[in-house]
Amino acid sequence: MTALADPRRFDLDALRERLLDERDGEVDTSIPQLATADPALCAIALVLPDGSIRSSVQADAPFSVQSAVKPFLFALALLDTDGEALDRVGIEPTGESFDALKLESGTGRPPNPMVNAGALLTASLVEGADASARSARIARGLAAFAGRDLDVDEDVAHNEHLLGDRNHALAHLMRAEGTLHATADDAVEVYARACATLVDAETLAVMGATLACGGVNPRTGDRVIPERVARDVVSVMATCGVYDGSGRWMRAVGVPAKSSVSGAIVLSAPGRLGAAVVSPPLDAQGTSVRGRLAIEALSDELGLHAFAAH
Ligand code: GLU
Repeated sequence: MTALADPRRFDLDALRERLLDERDGEVDTSIPQLATADPALCAIALVLPDGSIRSSVQADAPFSVQSAVKPFLFALALLDTDGEALDRVGIEPTGESFDALKLESGTGRPPNPMVNAGALLTASLVEGADASARSARIARGLAAFAGRDLDVDEDVAHNEHLLGDRNHALAHLMRAEGTLHATADDAVEVYARACATLVDAETLAVMGATLACGGVNPRTGDRVIPERVARDVVSVMATCGVYDGSGRWMRAVGVPAKSSVSGAIVLSAPGRLGAAVVSPPLDAQGTSVRGRLAIEALSDELGLHAFAAH
């Protein structure tokens, strides 16, 4: 067995340099702000349970969090509904793309909180009488996970609300099934705004570390969610976080994660660390190509695979 590396000494800049040679993947083109992302952006950050941070260059470069927000929306919905969100959304992997126009057969619920239907629903379940109150609640919740206030890219929020035709279709489908109670337009607005939240690799790693530390932010020491909620969220990240690539991800990487179209991946290795990688070129499942390679390397070299007999 090869000796494992110490995360405190891991050379993230050397790993990043190796990744820059990788040129595969396509930048998402769903909205102009994503289509013009710099394909050369590549950053990695790790946050350990003692709150220490290790990061590569560009770990302070901002990007919209996109679907990497979904675990945190699920957490806030579980918290605000006292667990009732678990009756309103399934937790089974779909084997389908992130925005497939499909609900759980028999119940009409979204299949899981990591695909768009599920996140449209969880964003509608957080506390708040209307869309702007729910968005404000989400902003406060995300700030607690991050340990700082986060801005929203208003152009991204606007365009995703305007151009997200499949998200509008999914919201209407859930309305027709009686599983979404907010109006379809409000649900899309709140979800689009959450996706447009600006983070950087370091901040997203703190958010992942908060889940990995059982719901306590290791930087601020604040309990953000109960331990049981963190466990539920990380479990569903493990089975559904990489969409129709979740099985391959679990086999190769063995660490719960959530991918996103901005090229970010948030990682949560319970009791070990939180991490984030961002690099915009994506594979066919919408996972960052360099992000996957970076996290495979971290998993191998730090011994993070949940099913390896280290
Ligand atoms: N905001 C994106 C959408 O709803 C998120 C998808 C993703 O990041 O995978 O289309």
